[in-house]
Amino acid sequence: MYVLVINAGSSSLKYQLLNMKDESVLAKGLCERIGIDGRLVHETDKGKHTADTAMPDHAAAMAIVLDSLLDANHGVIKSKAEITAVGHRVVHGGEAFAASVLITDEVEAAIEAVSDLAPLHNPPNLTGFRACKHHMPGVPQVAVFDTAFHQTMPKKAYLYAIDYDLYEKHKIRRYGFHGTSHKYVAQQAAILLNRPESELKLVTCHLGNGVSLCAVDGGESVDTSMGMTPLEGLAMGTRCGDIDPAVVQFIMEKECISAQQTNDLLNKKSGVLGISGVSSDFRDLSAASQSGNDRACAAMEVFAYRVAGYIGRYAACMNGLDAIIFTAGIGENDCGIREKVCAYLTWFGVELDPAQNAKRGEALDISTPEAKVRVLVIPTNEELMIARDTKTVLNL
Ligand code: ADP
Repeated sequence: MYVLVINAGSSSLKYQLLNMKDESVLAKGLCERIGIDGRLVHETDKGKHTADTAMPDHAAAMAIVLDSLLDANHGVIKSKAEITAVGHRVVHGGEAFAASVLITDEVEAAIEAVSDLAPLHNPPNLTGFRACKHHMPGVPQVAVFDTAFHQTMPKKAYLYAIDYDLYEKHKIRRYGFHGTSHKYVAQQAAILLNRPESELKLVTCHLGNGVSLCAVDGGESVDTSMGMTPLEGLAMGTRCGDIDPAVVQFIMEKECISAQQTNDLLNKKSGVLGISGVSSDFRDLSAASQSGNDRACAAMEVFAYRVAGYIGRYAACMNGLDAIIFTAGIGENDCGIREKVCAYLTWFGVELDPAQNAKRGEALDISTPEAKVRVLVIPTNEELMIARDTKTVLNL
């Protein structure tokens, strides 16, 4: 049984076709520059195929994806009918969705209804769904929400300390994101530790371009660092994370810029890019800090300090900590950042094994045998999680 996983952004569409018998990836790829010109990268075990090809909209991009999957040379299926189901990444499910669901007309309307909470993400996610519906009518499609895993958070974790009317009227509260990733690595951690998830207190650290931490107690999200939008929490590649809310008005007045421009500044020109003035990419930051760039050093220090601080906070919130899990681009690859973060946490019983920490590319325990708190590196796999959820929702 084959499941197609779709992650549609405003001008891009990522896809993966998985064989759910053994969870192997048959093909994966990316359509970029949709609505501009169009570029396809399609990968199978036969190799990589790239093409510059017109993609005026997502439906056109989807047609190209299906053509690539069916192609005589670089295709992996003979007929569209081999695709049993489609799983879609949907960024925001608001309070309406605490789990993945089959997309019906009502679900589509409900996703649309929460779009004002994620105006840059939900509309393109729906466009991806509609493109698939157009090309594969009758094939069941499932929505897997970034926010769903965090719907188990208690009120004390998701309420902001603002007028309660604002929560009731506009649903302003913490939702959290990266839920699919946090859920996946928490499950994998339990397997690696050979203990049931129900008895584990974990902090999962998704450190990529976007950064969020999650307190996972007994397999459930009980707190997470991103908020109503992905801007809250840690210092990220280009997002500021936590700041004094009064700074927003102050910047607007001092810099004579609009609310929209300030929002752009905090989302796209802040974080480690803003501090360093060098890059949002940790490979560039490491190189710059090694050649003595003070602002690059400061950016990395702020980043690690905040991650460590949130881990401490979540250890307190859960009143315990069994393991810390590092995942995503930085978490999986940057042993220097892992070392910096863990150096703050020795009091908790964290102790890294430097040789283990230097390894890469596999799920592993990087703490010493004596350490009280385990530290794990687990490569995330959001596409697999989406495919698994799709299979579960459809009872396949
Ligand atoms: P996204 O949030 O877009 O999915 P990723 O999880 O792919 O992002 O993470 C991207 C980030 O990971 C890059 O911006 C870079 O900072 C970091 N990264 C990737 N590879 C390495 C590496 N080898 N060393 C350090 N950082 C890395």
